[in-house]
Amino acid sequence: MNGTVGASGLILNEPLLWEKGRKGRRGMSMVESGVPPAPIDAGLCDEGPDFPDLSEIDVIRHYTRLSQWNFGIDSGMYPLGSCTMKYNPKINERMAATPEIACAHPMLDDASSQGVLRIMFELQQFLAVITGMDAVSLQPSAGAQGELAGMLIFAAWFRSRGEKRTKILIPDTAHGTNPASAALCGFTPVPLKSGDDGRLAVETVAALMDGETAGIMLTNPNTLGIFESNIRAIAEAVHARGGLVYGDGANMNAIMGIADPRKCGVDVLHLNLHKTFSTPHGGGGPGAGPVCVVQALEQFLPAPRVIRDDSGYRLADGGPSSIGRLHAFHGNFSVLVRAWSYIRSMGPEDLKKASQLAVLNANYVKERLKGTLHLPYDQPSLHECVFSDQFQHDHGIRTLDMAKRLIDYGYHPPTVYFPLVVPGAIMIEPTETECRDDLDQFVEAFKAVVQEAADTPDLLLQAPVRAKLRRLDETRAARHPCLCG
Ligand SMILES: *Cc1c(COP(=O)(O)O)cnc(C)c1O
Repeated sequence: MNGTVGASGLILNEPLLWEKGRKGRRGMSMVESGVPPAPIDAGLCDEGPDFPDLSEIDVIRHYTRLSQWNFGIDSGMYPLGSCTMKYNPKINERMAATPEIACAHPMLDDASSQGVLRIMFELQQFLAVITGMDAVSLQPSAGAQGELAGMLIFAAWFRSRGEKRTKILIPDTAHGTNPASAALCGFTPVPLKSGDDGRLAVETVAALMDGETAGIMLTNPNTLGIFESNIRAIAEAVHARGGLVYGDGANMNAIMGIADPRKCGVDVLHLNLHKTFSTPHGGGGPGAGPVCVVQALEQFLPAPRVIRDDSGYRLADGGPSSIGRLHAFHGNFSVLVRAWSYIRSMGPEDLKKASQLAVLNANYVKERLKGTLHLPYDQPSLHECVFSDQFQHDHGIRTLDMAKRLIDYGYHPPTVYFPLVVPGAIMIEPTETECRDDLDQFVEAFKAVVQEAADTPDLLLQAPVRAKLRRLDETRAARHPCLCG
């Protein structure tokens, strides 16, 4: 295992502060008081809170050790497919932390907030250019909430036309949030089967698209990392029956400056700023999932949005058709700042290059690992590639075992068992920010794991063996979560 990233260094165990504390330890010393002591009202302070007594170094070591248990993109490669765990340049963090920006109060009036409103206004414009759409709302806080906004817009559109449509088409490669968002808005998801080449066929869509179907939710490139090359014809088939096309733009990192969702026939699209546009994510938030629409649907967008008129930038409420607010204030503003800063610092040419390199890196990993791992859809991919554990079945080794063993080699595991159309899926998205040396090291680590699957399968069944914790009982953890530490 020499020469790999490896988790073999000092990772120290750490008890709770309560277990560490000893009566009488102090973290600071107070100056002698010059004021005579006076009793505090009885009852107010009979018993102090249950805080442990700790010295300064106890506290510093405690939190420093805990911080070293984290694995993040700043510590190593994080090839989690469909999540775009790319490196987030620190300049964008610095922009978001600028006091004038970070301390802007959401209830300040427009005249006192011209700078921050301008950032939001420009971001709306940048995202419109990148997606080819006409209008953007920055309100949604995540991709899934962008989908919810999109489905509410679908529902509002049909309501405004006096039509009742109850179903929505969703391919079998879709992210689970798609059917969930549609169902929340009262639509019944109708599954669509992808073809043998991992793409949707126009006939599959046309056969199911009827007057009761609101339209389709399509991810492009899809979660197999494959471009839905029939998308224009699919969109035409949906539009021909009066339906709308929803684009899940979570995979925009593959196509910035290359493919234009609008020209593909998309009517509503969400973006995941925390994936494509440089916000560290994976710990549960915050994120941002702006929703972008064609002109005919602008009136339904969530509000407020920033507009510019003679007096400058201001927040405009939605009209009577708007689906309303999705956020207490104006979206997750610090995430918006990072995206604005990322787009400004990259510029159009470099955004395009980022997508090209993301695609190149995924294809590189795919070519180097195919043969070692089973590749169910052997064709050029976009930003991610999907393998399966089929070659390892003879040794009794499954995807989960290999994923766990990669932890011993110092890697966050790839996405596993998704998309559902590939049994035992292993979905790798290296992103553009990994250099060739790091990709080679990852590939070598994966090859070593596959070799171990044949030579020492028992070891893999126990993996991880070098991490702080061994294999967890995930079912028990989900059924009986221990939330009290
Ligand atoms: C991540 C993802 C989503 C959901 O986005 P969140 O920001 O996690 O809510 C939806 N669709 C696809 C394809 C995704 O990869």
